Amino acid sequence: MRLQNKVALITGAGSGIGRQTALLFTQEGAKVVVVDINDAGGAETVAMIQDQGGEALYVHADVSQAADCETMVQQAEAHFGQLNVMFNNAGIMHSQDDDAVSTDEAIWDLTMNINAKGVFLGCKYGIPALRRAGGGSIINTASFVALLGAATPQVAYTASKGAVLALTRELAVVHARENIRVNALCPGPLHTELLMKFLNTEAKKQRRLVHIPMGRFGQAKEMAYAALYLASDESSYVTGSEFTVDGGITAAYVTPE
Ligand code: NAD
Repeated sequence: MRLQNKVALITGAGSGIGRQTALLFTQEGAKVVVVDINDAGGAETVAMIQDQGGEALYVHADVSQAADCETMVQQAEAHFGQLNVMFNNAGIMHSQDDDAVSTDEAIWDLTMNINAKGVFLGCKYGIPALRRAGGGSIINTASFVALLGAATPQVAYTASKGAVLALTRELAVVHARENIRVNALCPGPLHTELLMKFLNTEAKKQRRLVHIPMGRFGQAKEMAYAALYLASDESSYVTGSEFTVDGGITAAYVTPE
């Protein structure tokens, strides 16, 4: 098993990428701390893990709040004795996030607080725990939109994901000699609730699909497999990377018919 004896904390594990990753990590031998603000979703993920015979703990934490982030890490260590993998994955895409002219300052602040500051806070409290464990792996969820300009505007979301990439690189360099690896996962457009709420008409879906060489949205499970590689010792020489899993969208200039 690829994560035998490891403890992983996953934020946003009540749904989508986080949930699929929690399930896959469990199958690979990890004990998982499921973090979310959606208690029903979090409890459901824990129940799914327990059904598979795995061990999980649910912690309610809002990643934009320092005290919550401190608590989630404390709980992980108190319950499972250590923390080896930190997956800063929680994020939002607000329906009123638009271009610079139309986006309210409040939407900008909310998005930056969860998507960018949330990753900072996860690292702020997670890194000391990884040090205590002798090292570990941090995975921060960014997005392909931090690598390409999109015609469907979501200025706060895009900027927040750019911040995730920049801070991932810096942390990777700063902590490289402490056996702490820090990588960003850049998913392409996925068939999860988050994106489908945003691309809520067939026309909007088609507008996005036309740019994806594979001609389909990705699945959360396909991100979980990438996170598994970054979490495991198989990626022991990988740090500071932008791990892009996007059906070819960032490679394409013109997509095939
Ligand atoms: P999702 O909405 O299915 O899951 C996100 C989870 O995060 C939810 O359970 C939600 O309750 C939780 N969450 C939201 N705010 C939180 C907070 N303040 N504190 C703790 N938990 C919070 O979405 P997903 O598609 O699984 O997204 C996961 C990550 O992947 C996000 O960072 C998202 O930006 C990123 N991403 C998604 C796509 C996509 O197409 N779905 C593409 C690129 C990147």
